[in-house]
Amino acid sequence: MKIICIGRNYSNHAKELNNPVPDKPIFFIKPDTALLRTNEFYIPPYSSNIHYELEFVVKIKKVGKSISKRFASKYYDEVSVGLDLTARDLQQECKEKGLPWEIAKGFDSSAPIGKWYKKEALDTFDFYLVKNGKKVQEGNPSQMLFDIDSIIEYVSKFMTLKKGDLIYTGTPSGVGKIEVGDVYEAFLDTKKTLSLTIR
Ligand code: MG
Repeated sequence: MKIICIGRNYSNHAKELNNPVPDKPIFFIKPDTALLRTNEFYIPPYSSNIHYELEFVVKIKKVGKSISKRFASKYYDEVSVGLDLTARDLQQECKEKGLPWEIAKGFDSSAPIGKWYKKEALDTFDFYLVKNGKKVQEGNPSQMLFDIDSIIEYVSKFMTLKKGDLIYTGTPSGVGKIEVGDVYEAFLDTKKTLSLTIR
């Protein structure tokens, strides 16, 4: 199982980090060991600036390669939200040196994931993140630069998608640093879907 993450998929987030808006999807992979199913995250010793990024997530339900956009919606039927935890200090170093991002993005427990819903069971895909009782991020997949079907078409040109693979579809603006003691609650269609305490 692999976790595919899309970068810079909301123009308001690309702008807040001074990144250009891409002309095709940017993606990277987190290993399966990044998945976090408990509701506690322990800040690791190798970073002093880990950011939360709340993202809409889809789960691939069958194997597919070179999937065309018009069939892409048949390849997923469950959705959730997850956090793409990012060691921003390590990422900055990687960017400056032109190195891969794995240590900044793929570390253990860097992909907390919420409850799953059948996509038809939800009224909207509106999602938002509450940090210590205050809303800090909100979005909807309709605001993405590359929609889910385009992402599936693009990624599956290069990599076979398999049942159980997850796609984190990118974060809207409002990302920020996590601190010990923070409590995060993420909502999808107003349902509490994920909660995470930072240790
Ligand atoms: Mg992200």
